[in-house]
Amino acid sequence: MLKLKNVSKFYYNKGIIASGFTKVNLELKIGEFVVITGESGSGKSTLLNVISGLDSYEEGEMYINGNETSHYTEKDFEDYRRKYIANIFQSFNLINSYTVYQNVELVMLLNGYKKHKVKKKILDIIDQVGLTKFKNTKVSKLSGGQKQRVAIARAMVKDTPIIVADEPTGNLDSKSANEVIEILKKVAKDKLVVVVTHNIEQVEQYATRIIKMNDGRIIENTEIKKITDEPKPQESEYNNISIFNKYRLGVRNTFNIATKFLLLFAVFFFMSSAILAEYSSFQMSEEEVADEGYSIAFRDLSENRILINKKDKTSFTNEDYDKIKLLSNVDYIVEDDVFLDSGVSIARDDINFYGNMLDINNFTGNIDIGRMPENEDEIVLKISKDHFYINEMLDEILNKTFSVLKSEGRDGFSDEKVKDLIIVGIQYNEDNFDYDCKYYVSKSLLNELRSVMNKNYSNMKIFLNNKYEQYNVEPSYKVESGKVAVDDELKYSFKNYRILNQPLNIYVSNIYYEAELDLSITNTYTKSNFKRLTGLDKYDYNRYTIFVNIDDYNSLYNKPSYQSSVFVKDAKMIDETIQELENLGLTPKKVTDFKMNEGEIYKRIIKIIKVIVTIILIIVLFFISYLIIKIILKSRNVYYTTLRMLGATYRNVKRILDIELFVNSTLAYSVLMLFIHAVKSNIVNLEHIAKLSGYLSVREYVLMYIILIAISRLISAKFARKLFKNTAINTYNEEV
Ligand code: ADP
Ligand code: MG
Repeated sequence: MLKLKNVSKFYYNKGIIASGFTKVNLELKIGEFVVITGESGSGKSTLLNVISGLDSYEEGEMYINGNETSHYTEKDFEDYRRKYIANIFQSFNLINSYTVYQNVELVMLLNGYKKHKVKKKILDIIDQVGLTKFKNTKVSKLSGGQKQRVAIARAMVKDTPIIVADEPTGNLDSKSANEVIEILKKVAKDKLVVVVTHNIEQVEQYATRIIKMNDGRIIENTEIKKITDEPKPQESEYNNISIFNKYRLGVRNTFNIATKFLLLFAVFFFMSSAILAEYSSFQMSEEEVADEGYSIAFRDLSENRILINKKDKTSFTNEDYDKIKLLSNVDYIVEDDVFLDSGVSIARDDINFYGNMLDINNFTGNIDIGRMPENEDEIVLKISKDHFYINEMLDEILNKTFSVLKSEGRDGFSDEKVKDLIIVGIQYNEDNFDYDCKYYVSKSLLNELRSVMNKNYSNMKIFLNNKYEQYNVEPSYKVESGKVAVDDELKYSFKNYRILNQPLNIYVSNIYYEAELDLSITNTYTKSNFKRLTGLDKYDYNRYTIFVNIDDYNSLYNKPSYQSSVFVKDAKMIDETIQELENLGLTPKKVTDFKMNEGEIYKRIIKIIKVIVTIILIIVLFFISYLIIKIILKSRNVYYTTLRMLGATYRNVKRILDIELFVNSTLAYSVLMLFIHAVKSNIVNLEHIAKLSGYLSVREYVLMYIILIAISRLISAKFARKLFKNTAINTYNEEV
């Protein structure tokens, strides 16, 4: 079965060559019970390791079943070990955190056996070594003799043709030692057993061959009983460990040592907290910079405001608004959003307020002074509590009639009064420093004012006699619909002075819509018929004024909303809401996009720094956690080299470790998520963390989780590579 011809083993250690054993010649057959003795340092262990394929040799040739092995790769020896070899060690090499059953089962799982198929066999073997009572006891609780019996059970269960035992009784009292040897002898039937021992008397009666070593050489090789015809070795069958069993082991390892579990958990927990905290702090400073800024076109630059128009440029209908209100993130809609952006002055004697008109239907909260409006011309004024008028002149305001002043352009006002209204209620502004006020007015008043606004902001062009001209257009109830009355003098610009029945078009355009009136000239006025035709006093006579029917005139400006504003509940989700609005056939735009922002450049710089710092942090944290995890896992080196000696490959070890770190990091991350959730829903009161977490969205949480898993996989790959850099026994020796 095994033949060694002039085999030598050298150790190279920092330039010094030491000899393990020299020029060993040996032939061992199945059926033999070989006992090796010799002083400490004589090369017994080295020989056993070479025989079991755990270590390499430098000179000579070892034959396995007649095959040369000097060209064998690490993989070939792995294969050989799995088919032929079971090892028993002086120091047991058991997994202390596993039970007796789990230790024996481990070797079966690693060699691809199904869990349920091996149960009977394992229990049977545990019974043979007399440990049935302890099958569910953790190995760390057993005595030395019991431990070695577990190791023998583990060696037996795979039924390999060769069992190699290096001083199996070295750590045992004589009674336990005798028991162990007896079991070994029982197992030895039809196998090749090689035992190293100092205590030759213990094994003498069983030995078929006794070998004595001294200073790396065999000085005595006595065959006590000759094996004539060697039985053919029964190669032990093996497969790769199944994926399912890798998971089983990975999960088992996650929890089997409490301190290790908690330490790893803490590393993952703090690593993800650190990255999330850093990222959200940057996000926060970015938004704070973004908050500074202004816009000429829009007065209300709230970050939760979205401007909407319809894609087909038509006006909004109630069905449109109903659909928008169904979106989950929509707080409320301001249908006449022109009032958000154009200030309106209301005045009475010397008192003058400036602010925005809002629909009373959007009023929330309580009235602080006075009452809610009951009529269409009654309004609520929302204003700072510290405002001078409120402090000093409340009596001049409440229940008094004010006039809306016609504005001139966006922010200027003329004295012309458009409409009267009465302030019946006052609500204090939460923000004391905001001196602008808000007027909550009835819907019908808003409609009326909107047409005034539309008129103020529109351009008007008149098309007459094939060219565009600027004329003053006035409404008149005397002119019939579709008709127009013009100054008689205009006829001179027409051929043959034929002005009657000539077409006249009025075009109105503003940022929201375009409107047109197709009219025909039916009357021309002179000073004498001016009053009869227009209904106006003759003192109002004004050349180049065009008079149209009052309803026609109003139809140019009395338009429904072409632009509205949607206010969202959560500004962090504004992009999702914009997408949903787009799907409804609208063209939504964030009002903040219209900001002229000096902060823009800082924002960009912060963004770049954020990305760089985040990457650096991830890299630094990777190495820190690798170091910490390496220290934590160092105690696990023995475990993993034991796995390796039992038949686990690099990929197996990496995957089992992967799964352990995956389970642990996922648990740590879930706990972190629960913690953040608790903070957000005020179960735990931590203001700063709540604020920071507000800057993180689902996307970032998912990304963080992916990074965490990636880091833990990198760590397990790095660790596994290190474990397999050397021969199994060297790695093992390094760690013990
Ligand atoms: P034994 O098991 O008989 O006590 P070993 O096989 O352990 O002896 O050692 C044989 C010789 O090889 C000793 O001289 C020992 O110092 C040397 N040796 C063993 N392992 C190593 C190693 N990893 N590096 C260098 N020398 C070693
Ligand atoms: Mg030894």
